[in-house]
Amino acid sequence: KDRHYSMMIRARIPGGVLSPDQYLTFDRLADEYSDYKNIRITTRQTLQLHGILKGDLKTTIKTLNEALVTTLGACGDSGRNTICCAEPGDEPFRAEMQHDVLALADRLSAKTNAYHEIWIDGEAVQLADDKSEEPLYGEVYLPRKFKVAIVPEGDNCLDVYDNDLGLVAHIESGHIRGYTVLVGGGMGRMALDQDTYPRLASPLCYVARDEAIELILDTCVAIVTIERDYGDRSNRRFARMKYLIDRRGLEWFREEVETRLGRKLEPPRPLKWHNGHDHLGWHRERDGISYLGIFIPYGRIKDTETMQLKSVLRDIVHDFRPIVRFTSQQNVILSGIANELRPAIEERLRAAGVPLPEELSNVRQNTMACVSLPTCGLALAESERALPELMPQFEQLFDELGLSNEEITIRMTGCSNGCARPYNANIAFIGRSPGKYDMFLGGSSLGTALNTRFRETVPFDQLVPTVRSVLESFVQERETGEEFGMYWRRTGLEKHRDYGTDPNPA
Ligand code: SF4
Repeated sequence: KDRHYSMMIRARIPGGVLSPDQYLTFDRLADEYSDYKNIRITTRQTLQLHGILKGDLKTTIKTLNEALVTTLGACGDSGRNTICCAEPGDEPFRAEMQHDVLALADRLSAKTNAYHEIWIDGEAVQLADDKSEEPLYGEVYLPRKFKVAIVPEGDNCLDVYDNDLGLVAHIESGHIRGYTVLVGGGMGRMALDQDTYPRLASPLCYVARDEAIELILDTCVAIVTIERDYGDRSNRRFARMKYLIDRRGLEWFREEVETRLGRKLEPPRPLKWHNGHDHLGWHRERDGISYLGIFIPYGRIKDTETMQLKSVLRDIVHDFRPIVRFTSQQNVILSGIANELRPAIEERLRAAGVPLPEELSNVRQNTMACVSLPTCGLALAESERALPELMPQFEQLFDELGLSNEEITIRMTGCSNGCARPYNANIAFIGRSPGKYDMFLGGSSLGTALNTRFRETVPFDQLVPTVRSVLESFVQERETGEEFGMYWRRTGLEKHRDYGTDPNPA
């Protein structure tokens, strides 16, 4: 008798944009096939359906494909879902960025036919025995996953420095003139291996975009092939490109890119950041049209007794037909809404118990948690189900200390892999064992600095009291305008730091 194995299905959605019908397909599949009857937004702007029985995998994946959504390349040792700032708008650079993210995702896609053979039509495909079938990845793909992100300069809503490859668009007169290319970011570490560490990406070069994107794509492909050819395949712990860059040096890496491109690289341009927010609330999209960023608690679109989030999103998407965008802070943006429809949409949300972002505290809006238990096999401690318990306590604490208007990010993960990007949050709790967390402090609400480990294996019920003592010192000792991460670095608390170095201090 066949056991009831269940799996998670993750889609690849470059830039996190779905049509209304595509979103409704996910909603329906969640009801029909997910054991949990809900949808999980990930930090890479894509969607996961958990608890799909083995026997339903083919139907689910085929149905997604019929809606023109793929799951190919959402996981595995190749280019993962390419992410991009999800804010809509009528400035030309937004359409250009969307074009570029799709072009890049296409260039970094595996060309295998096996996926379609297995999941879609069942037709056997002829396998070529030369590598031309898989021009980028060859026979053995990459040593490890490879993450790519695109943002406009100034807006680091998606933590571009946390990616293997980041493109920062320089905008002039509303158009993208070129990209500063960042390389070697990555969050993962192993709690008990001090040789593993999170790293922020280093600026490598500037590439002009002009009219065509070909040079950008060629540069990105050259970077991916360096990781393919030189990344560590003997020890998976050190397989991410960040270790290759630290082992060989950024200068070696630059020369290698130049050799593969056959041209000299321009130096990177200086970068400035002013936003780490996730574009929540109502905003102008273009004349007569608005978008609405909705806070999704811990990325989970589900119905509860007090909040019918999944149902109301389905009804709004069905009745008002907005484009649905997922952000890398695990929220939703409904775009293309005629201004006169705003009251009706607000009314629907209110009736379903879904608050508008302005009704939520800053600290709540600035939180993220990874999936963790019960569906992540690597989890050591609770995360998505634990952080909500702490939120009222944090809100009360921030209120009491006069920090309610402060931008302080809080992130929790169930293990040190760091899927919710905890290592540049101001406050991070990282699961070590059931009910115990390592606490990291510092970071930056703009995503430009790493935090440092402050305490190990803190019991869950001691997390808020421990944060309280630090925030009380911050309130008493901070200088005018000093944010928490800056305070942490200035006061030397970083002496508690016990691994790695920050290559890009803020
Ligand atoms: Fe799972 Fe760890 Fe990632 Fe959380 S951080 S989703 S526990 S692998």
